[in-house]
Amino acid sequence: MSIAHNIHYFTSLLPHGVKLVCVSKFHPSSAIQEAYEAGQRVFGESKVQELIEKQAQLPADIEWHFIGHLQTNKIKQLLPYVYLIHGVDSAKLLVEINKEAKKKGLLVNCLLQVHIAKEETKFGFSTEELLFFLQSESFYQLKHVRINGLMGMATNTTNIDTIRSEFKSLKLVFDQLKTSVFSSQNTFTELSVGMSSDYEIAIEEGSTMVRIGSAIFGPRL
Ligand SMILES: *Cc1c(COP(=O)(O)O)cnc(C)c1O
Repeated sequence: MSIAHNIHYFTSLLPHGVKLVCVSKFHPSSAIQEAYEAGQRVFGESKVQELIEKQAQLPADIEWHFIGHLQTNKIKQLLPYVYLIHGVDSAKLLVEINKEAKKKGLLVNCLLQVHIAKEETKFGFSTEELLFFLQSESFYQLKHVRINGLMGMATNTTNIDTIRSEFKSLKLVFDQLKTSVFSSQNTFTELSVGMSSDYEIAIEEGSTMVRIGSAIFGPRL
């Protein structure tokens, strides 16, 4: 199937209120251009250098999302080009993003990544860490970042029950924060969960943003 076909497929399939983040990492700008011509404007990249290079080659109205693990020494380069940083996985990283944003006079949109998978390797806050941090004075001081919601990745498994229960646990945390820490902010709205293999479950469990790569572009090289 063509890239254009796949974009049309996903945009017609996704319910109202679920945004498609088309994950273009490792695919050439020509592939992104094809998706763009099919109407897609939101793309996700996981390497800062790659995002910057593609941004320079492609139309200016693309909304670039950073979905990878962000190293603090790359924040400065990324900030001018990024619309939303999905994987803010530590207090230290958020503090550093705030510091660079302040220097540049920016307000940077961020999602906090919560560790919901069983694997040790996936990044993110534990629920306890997150609740503790969000109630701390150090979080309150950060005026140059806006927390738009949460992001998570399920365990890489074919067990649907495991995936579903991980997404459910994240939705619970999201709802809890929405009515407590963020109750006065109407910008805490996004739950970024679901990829090519598990987006259907994610949508059933409250996703507002699915990050889909291989189901649109085919396998990455
Ligand atoms: C690569 C990646 C995706 C997309 O994965 P697919 O299986 O190709 O849909 C989604 N989210 C993150 C964080 C990724 O790194």
